[in-house]
Amino acid sequence: RAKELGRDQVQFYSVELNEQAQRRLQLEGELRHALERGEFELAWQPKADIQSGHISGAEVLLRWQRAGQSVATPDVFIRVLEETGLIMPVGRWVLEQAARQIVAWRRAGLPWLRVAVNLSARQLRQGDLVRTVSEVLETSGLPSAQLELELTESMLMGGEQHQRLLHRLSALGVQLAIDDFGTGWSSLSYLKRFNVDTLKIDRSFVRDTPHDPEDNAIATAVIALARSLKLRVVAEGVETPEQRRFLLDNGCDEFQGWLLSRPLSARAFEAWWRQQLLLASGAEVEHATLP
Ligand code: C2E
Ligand code: MG
Ligand code: MG
Ligand code: MG
Repeated sequence: RAKELGRDQVQFYSVELNEQAQRRLQLEGELRHALERGEFELAWQPKADIQSGHISGAEVLLRWQRAGQSVATPDVFIRVLEETGLIMPVGRWVLEQAARQIVAWRRAGLPWLRVAVNLSARQLRQGDLVRTVSEVLETSGLPSAQLELELTESMLMGGEQHQRLLHRLSALGVQLAIDDFGTGWSSLSYLKRFNVDTLKIDRSFVRDTPHDPEDNAIATAVIALARSLKLRVVAEGVETPEQRRFLLDNGCDEFQGWLLSRPLSARAFEAWWRQQLLLASGAEVEHATLP
């Protein structure tokens, strides 16, 4: 009996594993054609100065409109892109698309906007990232100062090779930000060695401020660390005015999150941005006419 039961169990697991493997293969197959089929899109999420609310930049987030299906979750398909190496061509596409859009907006009379692009560990390890970035800057006409690269702490673990790579990147004039700061492996000495410009406080530490004393302590400590290292500090995932207030009172520079705006299509972002610019110029005019 036990033997039979054991056999059933094995069968059960293998059916399940099989289904999982099938789904995964299907996903991989679809992802291989997604770029040429034009199924990827960028979502744009603004960042703003936490005090004035003025837009300081935007982060692009990859979206995949699977043929005949709903939009896929980035956390899942980006992992598959990384594991298969497809992140190399797709990551380049993200850079190109972001740069092209910023230059197009500038040509349409909008101000320069700094765009933040997320990178995968693989893009640091494989291929020539410095060359890719400089080619993208050159062909698009995007000034290097308008490009920010978001890396995670674990990507800084690669030793000297990474150190050289990141030095070459910052020598190009692009900005470097540490994403999800506080969640990864973190040796603070790396911050000094890597020419980092910005720390992004992870959303998980922002979510329960200002009600959770531990999250308050962590958020405040990250802000203090950034300020004493003269780094810009951005809070991600800010959803409520209370969170913004708390972060502002504790010296955070910028914020990003649903309170400001959800990630938007390029068109919707442009409309939203123009509205913000109008409001800001209105405020300045009012200010200027005060006695
Ligand atoms: P991330 O870079 O930390 O991006 C922030 C994530 O938080 C985004 O999720 C964004 O939609 C979400 N978010 C922003 N504001 C709020 C908020 O107020 N509340 C909540 N609950 N969530 C908020 P998304 O778009 O699902 O992206 C997930 C992750 O996928 C990103 O995390 C990033 O690590 C990765 N990713 C996205 N696009 C790319 C890409 O082009 N290349 C690479 N390598 N990774 C990417
Ligand atoms: Mg990011
Ligand atoms: Mg983040
Ligand atoms: Mg995060």
